[in-house]
This record gives sequence, C-alpha cells and structure tokens, in this order.
Amino acid sequence: MKILSKVIDKDHVISTLGSHCSLQVLKGAKDEGFKTLLLCEKKRESFYKRFKFIDDLFIIDNFRDLLNKNIETELLDKKIILIPHGTLISNFKLEELEKINIPIFGNKWILRWEADRTLKQKLMTESNFNTPLQINKKNEIKNLCIVKLHGAAGGKGYFLAWNEQSFEDGCKELIKQKVIKSEKELYIQEYVLGVPIFLQFFYSPLNKEVELLGIDRRYESDIDGIGRIPAHIQIKLDLDPSYNVIGNFPLVLRESLLQEVFSMAENFAEKTKQLVPPGIPGPFCIEGVYDKNGTFVTFEFSARIVAGTNLFINGSPYSDLLYNEPMSMGRRISREIKQAIKLNRVDEIVT
Ligand code: AMP
Repeated sequence: MKILSKVIDKDHVISTLGSHCSLQVLKGAKDEGFKTLLLCEKKRESFYKRFKFIDDLFIIDNFRDLLNKNIETELLDKKIILIPHGTLISNFKLEELEKINIPIFGNKWILRWEADRTLKQKLMTESNFNTPLQINKKNEIKNLCIVKLHGAAGGKGYFLAWNEQSFEDGCKELIKQKVIKSEKELYIQEYVLGVPIFLQFFYSPLNKEVELLGIDRRYESDIDGIGRIPAHIQIKLDLDPSYNVIGNFPLVLRESLLQEVFSMAENFAEKTKQLVPPGIPGPFCIEGVYDKNGTFVTFEFSARIVAGTNLFINGSPYSDLLYNEPMSMGRRISREIKQAIKLNRVDEIVT
C-alpha cells in the first residue's frame, strides 16, 4: 500500500474520461497547477478540443480501450491519476475497474457498494439513514413504488408501479427495449412523496472533515415535463414517466436543516471506514427526498463525484462559506491530491 506515496508526485497528470463532469474536473486541476489529460473518444474530439485547460487529449475509439494492456502501459508512462465519475462506473464492470493498475483517486473498492443494491442498502442502514421500504417480491407491491435498474443509469429505465400488473407491464416494456433481460435485474423501492434533493460532500482524510460543497436537484425527462400537460389530457394519454437526467438546478436548504445534513454525512464517512477501508476519501453524494414533515429519506448515495456538481464550477453558496475563492468539487479533488503529495500521504486518497 505504501508504494503509491513513493511513486505519485507533483508531476502526475490529472485525468478522467471525457464525459459527465470532465470539464469541471480538469478545469479544477488546472487551477491547482496540475497538467491535465482527457481520455477522449474519437467522436467527441472536436468538442473537447475547444477547452484550453486540457493539455493533452488522449484519443481512443472507445472508453473500454482502457482495458487494453498497451494503452494502460502508455497511460502509466504518462503518470496519470484517474478521477472516477458516473461514466467510468457505467462503462466497466466492477471487477474490471478493481484490476486497472492506473492509480484511481478515492476508494475504488467502494464503487462496488454504490453499484450493488444490497451492499448499498447495508451501508445506508448502518449509517442510520431513513431509507424507503424495499419491496422484495412483485406481489408485495401495495403502494406506489419506483422500479430501478442496478448501477449508475442516471435514472434511465426507471418506472412507477402500484401493483403486480403495473410492475409486469413496465418490466415487459424494458425487456422489449432490450434494456434488461429479466425482471430479476430490477429493484423495487417505495416511492417517497416530497422533494428530491442531492447533497454534495467532500471528505478529506487529511484534515478528517466533511465539507458540504453544494446542493442540487435534477431536471429529469420526462417526469419534469409531465406537469406542463393539464391533468385531464394526461389521463387520456396514458403517460409512463421516465427519470432520465437532463440537467440540474442549484438549491439551498432551510438553514435549520443543515445540522442534520452534516451529521448524516459524518455518520456515512465513519461507517465507510469500518465497512470498506480506507473509507470515502473525496466526493460523495447523499440523495433523497424531504417529505412534508421535513424528514429526509435517503434513496441512494453516490460514492464519487456526481454531475450535479457541474453547477458550481465557480463555487456554490456552501463552498463560499468554507473557501475565500471559487471552489468546485473538481478543484477540491486536485487540492486534496496536491496536499497529500506535499504531506507524503497519497496512500490515504488514491487506490
Ligand atoms: P436515482 O438515479 O436513483 O438517483 O433516481 C432518479 C430519480 O428518481 C430521482 O431524481 C428522483 O426523482 C426519483 N427517485 C428515486 N428514488 C425515489 C424514491 N424512493 N422515491 C421518490 N422518488 C425517487
């Protein structure tokens, strides 16, 4: 384990896959004085070429080319540190990611706990989160439920069910669209009525502190568009909403809710240390719904940077309370790497 502190130095290059939040991550790296490299699919080259803070575009046909040993060696020679995000998780199997020899920022072992619904539930329960009821069998669906796929799908393919029949109808549709092969791939959760909120944190093992760097809500198609159609027309159209994330809105919470927000994140960071060492160095997101009593019900977490942080490239109201300079999540990652290199503590933040 100690080896990484010896090999990672300030000449290392911050790198990520060209998608999701790569612009923010590399802009932040540049602001912190690092060289940057984007792993870029050929089809997106002309887009990413526009951004001057990207020093090197490493062109590949497909993100999965990272599994090619020659490419891996080339990237190791270029001394990159890979910043994981949702696209990395959705393009690779966990076993593949765990075997990549390129240093990955954060705890790559915890990504499995994000992708696997059973592990995810365990971590949320052990962190004392209120979580929605999990429905194990389709014939137990009695109230409104949301049916989800495993992994980081960005809400794609989710559907609502209120009894066994509606579950089967939704499932048939996903099989027809070749999104899933069988209903075993689905996960049923009680639908929580309220407002969805995404809490963006950074945990620093160097100063042992959780920082709240931003809050957002998502703009999802077509669930957020359905309200634009009057109810009497909605009924006639027999609409089935989907939850595909298209963008994000910034948000602030009532200040009286913030204390609980910090304790949730602190509990979570502590539990990860026990269940998945070394814990959660770096960004994570707690995702849930505030119900009408102001109680937060957590339906998910992300164990890495989320795309909602793209809102705050120039800082957020919350990062502004902590830093006297624009501090995006991407920049915060590079600040931590820079500090860890200086203190010879890279092993605590890279796996
Ligand atoms: P996810 O990809 O799991 O973060 O969820 C995508 C979207 O589905 C969220 O932004 C929410 O709008 C909605 N959602 C997920 N789980 C629930 C839940 N248990 N109750 C209500 N809405 C949910």
